[in-house]
Amino acid sequence: LRVLLIGNGGREHALAWKLSQSPRVESIIAVPGNGGTATCPKTTNSTEVKDSDFPGLVEFAKKNNINLVVPGPEVPLVAGITSFFSKAGIACFGPSIDGARLEGSKTFSKDFMRRHNIPTAAYENFSDYSKASAYLDSVGHDVVIKATGLAAGKGVLIPTTKEEAQAGLKSIMLDKDFGDAGSEVVIEEYLEGDELSILTFSDGYTFLSLPPAQDHKRIFDGDQGPNTGGMGCYSPTNIATKELIARIEKEVLAPTFAGMRKEKVPFRGCLFTGLMITVDGPKTLEYNVRFGDPECQTLLPLLESDLAEIMLACVDGYLDTVDLKVSSKFSTTVVLASGGYPGSYPKNVPMMVQSPPDNITIFHAGTKLVDGELLTSGGRVIAANAIADGGLEAAVAKAYEGVKLIQFDKMFYRKDIAHRAFRKTAA
Ligand code: ATP
Repeated sequence: LRVLLIGNGGREHALAWKLSQSPRVESIIAVPGNGGTATCPKTTNSTEVKDSDFPGLVEFAKKNNINLVVPGPEVPLVAGITSFFSKAGIACFGPSIDGARLEGSKTFSKDFMRRHNIPTAAYENFSDYSKASAYLDSVGHDVVIKATGLAAGKGVLIPTTKEEAQAGLKSIMLDKDFGDAGSEVVIEEYLEGDELSILTFSDGYTFLSLPPAQDHKRIFDGDQGPNTGGMGCYSPTNIATKELIARIEKEVLAPTFAGMRKEKVPFRGCLFTGLMITVDGPKTLEYNVRFGDPECQTLLPLLESDLAEIMLACVDGYLDTVDLKVSSKFSTTVVLASGGYPGSYPKNVPMMVQSPPDNITIFHAGTKLVDGELLTSGGRVIAANAIADGGLEAAVAKAYEGVKLIQFDKMFYRKDIAHRAFRKTAA
């Protein structure tokens, strides 16, 4: 197989790393890729074509005899990239433009959950500002306000007062802080609990999940400070007992895939389901129609099956014949960010990365290789992942050993990844 991988984050480095281990994969071209994919086995980066130019990407794929395309991020999937490749007869791993609405429109996904009795926070959708504003004044519970469209994880506001809620609503709907993504909003009930992420492969019919993972969205230890793209992750987690996983499969995942089939849009690809585990049970926070980041860097090291084979089975509809093998080890990822992130931060800072020992993997995100020198190029810069037998503590300790292999000026990372799992153990 010759693979075209689209994207430049930590998720895409993890995908290239895992795909390169497949005996079926001959070569991978990452467009545009990053400093990690540049040095990944079997992989080269290319900037010959823009990742947003779908006809150009199809021509590029034909020229390079590509037979599997893997779009990493949501933006190309929501813009309908898969149909460009399917028309050209090239396998593309991911949902159709209609399937991608599960992520591309929060108002659609909430209505979808309601139609199929999938547990989620109570909500109302609004396209009219004054009606939304009146609703905010009338509602008795704490709320979360979400711009319907894609906003790179920034379109979700968790106000602490009515004034803050009104100001947030105005910034989304009237000031258009997120452009068209804020033409409609979801106003939903604020939920308390532990968050879980589940990645599920599906060909539209069969679905196979990886073990649940827990991300750490806030920038500071103790889950304080502003939300980020994710500062670390671990899996499996003791929050997800066998009974809870069975309940999520029955109440959330099965009706989601069945619902999509019923609506004539069987979901093919990797579905990320974000859940809040409340005292009333699991509630669905959101769907993403691609691998999560940093969940991908945490879960792919545990995957023992051939990822390329799974992806082809999802595209071609034979996932029922695939045996999803997952290691019984524990996995932990610690993300290292540029000082200042998620606010403003410096770029082009020189980096030193030593080669890791066995069972530690360094995944690059915002890095670039310029004339052989590795420089920072983003907010979330790089991550250290470790897998270990014999408990989560061992995986966490090893991931922090991995952190010591990385150096750049003003680097910042959380020191408490997996703290919720330890809190649960202590309780
Ligand atoms: P991302 O792309 O970063 O995953 P997103 O913009 O798609 O995020 P959501 O996942 O819906 O948005 O929300 C982001 C975060 O906000 C969640 O991970 C969760 O921490 C918090 N959140 C969302 N909805 C609720 C809710 N109803 N109650 C409490 N917290 C919530």
